[in-house]
Amino acid sequence: MAISRRGLMLVLSSPSGAGKTTISRRLLSEEPGIRMSVSATTRARRPGEVDGQDYFFEQPENFQLMVNRDELLEHAKVFGNYYGTPRGPVEDALSDGKDVLFDIDWQGTQQLEAKMRDDLVSVFIVPPSVAELERRLKSRAQDSDEVVAQRMAKAADELSHYPEYDYIILNNDVESSVASVRAILRAERLKRERQIGLPDFMKGLREGRT
Ligand code: 5GP
Repeated sequence: MAISRRGLMLVLSSPSGAGKTTISRRLLSEEPGIRMSVSATTRARRPGEVDGQDYFFEQPENFQLMVNRDELLEHAKVFGNYYGTPRGPVEDALSDGKDVLFDIDWQGTQQLEAKMRDDLVSVFIVPPSVAELERRLKSRAQDSDEVVAQRMAKAADELSHYPEYDYIILNNDVESSVASVRAILRAERLKRERQIGLPDFMKGLREGRT
């Protein structure tokens, strides 16, 4: 017996290099019922990235068309490039009782919060230290020194947005951070308002039909 529920939107934000990507991957492999929202972006594809899987890589003109047609739930400029969340897959998943994971920045989170507060669960991942942040950014070796320096400078600004999030996780250790995100997910799935099949189920219980 299961009670039908509406899916939720789980946002993970952090400065680049705080470990968010590792946590997201682990979550997706360990948690059935949650899928990643694939963003559209105008930034160049990095080696190893797959179009349609990591991002939908778009020309700026096409991205603008998507904005004009209201096809994006939110969009923002990050490090000089545009990023946005395609609307259709998210709306379909939520009404189908599936959860969606978002790796978006604070600007996108604010927009989702304004539009879809009831569906949103936001988590901010904090790096244990600046030294660790820098080490992780450099070890990725995907970006040039200039880009790493740019991202370090931006980190302080991104960190200032932690009060806008529902949950804060200090990422000392990946295992423990993944366990924390899973605990949040488990509890949030049980919220009464999300269990849209509850009135019928309870009625059945009271009337002795269930
Ligand atoms: P990257 O270029 O390293 O993949 O991502 C850079 C930043 O853009 C990250 O902080 C990431 O969270 C953010 N980002 C990725 N996709 C989206 C999106 O669809 N919307 C917003 N607002 N930010 C995004």
